[in-house]
Amino acid sequence: MLYALAAGANLGDRAATLDAAVRRLRAEPGVRVVAVSRWFETAPVGGPGGQPAYLNGALTVEAARSPEDLLALLHRVEHEFGRVRTVVDGPRTLDLDVLLAGDCVIHTPTLTVPHPRLHERGFVLVPLAEVAPDMVHPVIGKTVRELLADLPPDDTIVPWAEPRVSGNSLRGLNAFVTGSTAGIGAAIRAAFLAEGACVVGHGRRERPGEPHVSGDLADGAFVERLPGLAWEVAGGLDIVVLNAGADTLTGPAAQWDFSRKLDELLAVDLRSTMLLGRAFGERMKSRRSGVILTVGWDQAELGMEGDSGQLFAAVKGAVMAFTRSLALSLAPAVRVNCVAPGWVRTAWGETASATWQERVRRETPLGVWGLPEDVAAAAVWLASPAARFVTGQTVRVNGGAVR
Ligand code: ADP
Ligand code: MG
Repeated sequence: MLYALAAGANLGDRAATLDAAVRRLRAEPGVRVVAVSRWFETAPVGGPGGQPAYLNGALTVEAARSPEDLLALLHRVEHEFGRVRTVVDGPRTLDLDVLLAGDCVIHTPTLTVPHPRLHERGFVLVPLAEVAPDMVHPVIGKTVRELLADLPPDDTIVPWAEPRVSGNSLRGLNAFVTGSTAGIGAAIRAAFLAEGACVVGHGRRERPGEPHVSGDLADGAFVERLPGLAWEVAGGLDIVVLNAGADTLTGPAAQWDFSRKLDELLAVDLRSTMLLGRAFGERMKSRRSGVILTVGWDQAELGMEGDSGQLFAAVKGAVMAFTRSLALSLAPAVRVNCVAPGWVRTAWGETASATWQERVRRETPLGVWGLPEDVAAAAVWLASPAARFVTGQTVRVNGGAVR
């Protein structure tokens, strides 16, 4: 069922709280966040006087659970963010409400859906219209867009401009990330930029307007050219992340037979990582510093049943083994480490079946999906000078999975 939710905060670092709450929902097995509005700054309505302004937003999520169960999850998340229910309409670090639940109409002591004041509140309807303009209020029989048009315009509801807060743990460093246009690679690129690095990206398609090198890593000639190209575009490199991996789980490649998948994974995930690691490593070694990161797979060492388990265990296991040998070869000038994600929610995880969602919950002690950002946070640390004494390691970002 498609739900529309409201998120609000008026204490602490409001945007950071709302962003973190969205990440928490994205990590919940069986819940898929479909769209998230911008945050809007709004004056508090009701409650004790003198409250700070709110940030409000709306999101749509697809969830195979009842409205009561979803509300229980929202309360759990509010609680995790330190919300204590005291006064009605009082200040709160985080408020998550169910606005709409498909076309359900619910009146119980704990849950009223559609949210009773939804249609009267600009600070709810403005963000909601960004993510679900065509959802229909099942009692009033109007769309969100129509409900908003019925309200007088309110210029006190303004989009909140993100101050460019950024860390500086990678300030002044040049980085190159392969496969940076989606999933974990995109998260690493974003996290590096936020930490002050200059980042050159890579993908199969061109990206006009940003520092980027395009080409297919299954193409041996391109792999040979790439180190020189990337080095030149970046003006020298301090950090190289060999993240690119063939997606054989979603899209047309999911239909390929085993041996074709194997060839593609060997070429993209293993062969290019080895050749690029060696070539970038030599360049870094000759200028006596650098960091190389590879991306492995948490389950490679323990094994996983099925075709994909066999393929990834062999290929990513080889990447992890290669990483250790490259680290020995390039020390002490260059550090080489591997991040090994466990159940991380990339393209496949977004749409994986209920059985897989349950399995993720069961096999991950922390009980949620990892997010690409979680892997990126480890990559930032490994790439930064803070990890100067760390090389040849595989860092598992896996929610504690041990089997
Ligand atoms: P607010 O009305 O500002 O969201 P709270 O978050 O403290 O205030 O909610 C008070 C109660 O409202 C909760 O305990 C919850 O059970 C109940 N409630 C009823 N309908 C809803 C809904 N659609 N979404 C969220 N909470 C709801
Ligand atoms: Mg609430």
